[in-house]
Amino acid sequence: MSGWDSEVDVAVVGGGACGVMSALRAARNPDLVIAVFEKSTREGCNAAISSGSLAAGGTRFQAAAGIEDSPQRHAEDIIAASGDEEWRPVVEALCAAAPEFVEWIADTGYPMEIGTDMPRAGMSVPRLHTDVGRLGGVRLMRHLRTLLDACDNVAFVDEAPVVDLVVEDGEVAGVVVQQNGTTQRVRANAVVLASDGFAGSPALVKEHLSHLGAPFYGGVSTATGDALAWVLPLGARLRNMGAGLRSGLVVVDHGTRVSPALPFNGAVLVNLDGERFVEEDTKGYSSMAGVLQRQPGERAAMIWDATAMEATRESEMMRECLAAGAIRDRAALADVAADLGRTVEETERLLAPLPGRRALTAPYHLAWVTHGLLATQGGLVIDPSGRVLDASGTPIPRLFAGGGTACGLAGAHSDGYMSGNGLLSAFGMAWIIGNALSRTA
Ligand SMILES: Cc1cc2nc3c(=O)[nH]c(=O)nc-3n(C[C@H](O)[C@H](O)[C@H](O)COP(=O)(O)OP(=O)(O)OC[C@H]3O[C@@H](n4cnc5c(N)ncnc54)[C@H](O)[C@@H]3O)c2cc1C
Repeated sequence: MSGWDSEVDVAVVGGGACGVMSALRAARNPDLVIAVFEKSTREGCNAAISSGSLAAGGTRFQAAAGIEDSPQRHAEDIIAASGDEEWRPVVEALCAAAPEFVEWIADTGYPMEIGTDMPRAGMSVPRLHTDVGRLGGVRLMRHLRTLLDACDNVAFVDEAPVVDLVVEDGEVAGVVVQQNGTTQRVRANAVVLASDGFAGSPALVKEHLSHLGAPFYGGVSTATGDALAWVLPLGARLRNMGAGLRSGLVVVDHGTRVSPALPFNGAVLVNLDGERFVEEDTKGYSSMAGVLQRQPGERAAMIWDATAMEATRESEMMRECLAAGAIRDRAALADVAADLGRTVEETERLLAPLPGRRALTAPYHLAWVTHGLLATQGGLVIDPSGRVLDASGTPIPRLFAGGGTACGLAGAHSDGYMSGNGLLSAFGMAWIIGNALSRTA
């Protein structure tokens, strides 16, 4: 073993959603030795700060709730939102994997339920699965890490960023890892790039996403697109680099997000000019970010009532908002009018329900919301098996990518992002890659 510090069968770059699931699935083969190199769990992964909402069509949880759905219907919804026909094979592969990984996570003891109270724009049936108690991604990632720690053939190496690939004779042969001030070359038969996107890199965001202006950044610091620089010299291609997972639900001066279900429960948006500028429940939260960016001051007041509050209170997002003091309680219409700088009569007109929507009644709640960037959606071109492709469409041997490192499901534009796409890309591709690796010896 000349020139190598150690050797494994599978080197996973990143210990977030995609990395942990890839390792868990590959580790079912006891003959494989797997190392997950994680930049820093102290800094964290996006999966752990996410809502942990898992989109899957055709699960037993949906069936038990009387919801008819299928992987095909899920895929059609995603493509209708993104308009990205070219990406259909990847979308269909992920949607086929989704009910399998959601049910498997539940079978490992995770308290899964279907969120019938989590309506989302563009989702033709309730399809988001979440934990009973709604603690979100932090609980999910803790659960998966516990499962991983029980695997004898997996080493989770923390505070150990991968800084490069080792390429020998034009082929990926391993990774270069930094740990405790030393640099190590780790030989691997397969490398899984699971280090997420580049929303935490101001330089890359400026290069690819300058049209988003100066959004609040709501993702983790570790998502700096490290893998992109290593694979481009191998001929890999990037796709949809101008698309992001945005949020139009970020509370000004707090950075917490209000629930995406509020607009479906009658919440109203009013801008600084005293205008109602959008039909609130027709936009997904990523698409709403663009609408807010175009408003005066890039913000608007979201107003809702006690009924809407009751319907949305039990989510990690609303709990965080309440804990942060990000939501104002307003007893009467006059109080809301004062916040908006409008007369009571004007405010009454502004809050009047649009056709088919419920009327709000006092007391009210109010938060000023703006747009934020949570994660990027552009990334490496892969095939439906997660193999990284070169410019001719040929798989680069031994190299896989999933989650935010790979091209996502939003299409060319952030408006095409559908709720649940992020973890679907991460867990779904990890499921596919890890299962295939477990069949290798
Ligand atoms: C606030 C928020 C809420 C969200 N809510 C949802 C939701 O409810 N549902 C949904 O589907 N999606 C959601 N998303 C998106 C989702 O979290 C991401 O799409 C998903 O986590 C991507 O998975 P990943 O494995 O690619 O990246 P991550 O989960 O971010 O994991 C990547 C890991 O790689 C590590 N890493 C980075 N560079 C290196 C390196 N050089 N060497 C070693 N390790 C490295 C990082 O430290 C990190 O631990 C949300 C995102 C945010 C920010």
